[in-house]
Amino acid sequence: MDINMDDWKMVDSTCATCNIKTEVLNYLHKNHPESVRCDDCLKKYEQEQEVDSEIEKMQGKNEEWKVICPPLYRETKIAHEQFPLAKWKELSKREFSERSLILTGKTGTGKTRLMFEYLKKLYFTKNVIPTIIWVGDLSLHVLDSLKDTKAYSKLEDSWKTCSLLFIDDIFAEKCSDRVEDVLFRIIDTRTRNMLPIFATTQREGESVIEMFQNKERAKAIVRRLREFSDGIRI
Ligand SMILES: [Zn+2]
Repeated sequence: MDINMDDWKMVDSTCATCNIKTEVLNYLHKNHPESVRCDDCLKKYEQEQEVDSEIEKMQGKNEEWKVICPPLYRETKIAHEQFPLAKWKELSKREFSERSLILTGKTGTGKTRLMFEYLKKLYFTKNVIPTIIWVGDLSLHVLDSLKDTKAYSKLEDSWKTCSLLFIDDIFAEKCSDRVEDVLFRIIDTRTRNMLPIFATTQREGESVIEMFQNKERAKAIVRRLREFSDGIRI
């Protein structure tokens, strides 16, 4: 292709938006007169473009959030009488850091809902993308590991290294020795690497230890979580 030096000259042209005279590159004047803009119109155009790309980004985030957050927790009404509003006021001020977070409370107190509101805030304001484990699924994943060791070890690695791990109802059920071990490895690795774990639980202290087959491992888990977590009781 020939390079035509004339293309790079500034020439008199007409703003296609407001029709005033303006100087532009000859190339633009000749080939795309419909895109000629005076300084003012160009500024306005660029601002509009910026707003459009912000809107697009926001729409993209909304779509991604739908994948992260289950429908049940997506449409939380903060004004709803069952929503723990006072706790939300406390939690929403919390800065995201390497510290873990445990929300403790009985079933039906809105722990998971509260956690998802906080996760949503972190996602939309700090771009923190949580990885979520539902404890019931954990046992299934560990069972699957017998079928496909490679896929499972990739999954476990992601639990150990993701920027934020949320485990819902962490001590909800008695687990097999293998699952307990996985839970311990995740907590151990993450706390060593100063990566936060968020969890909800109905149990604390002794009643956590009761749930475990291996009491020493249970004590180690409780110790780790106590040391590295902020706790909110609902
Ligand atoms: Zn103009």
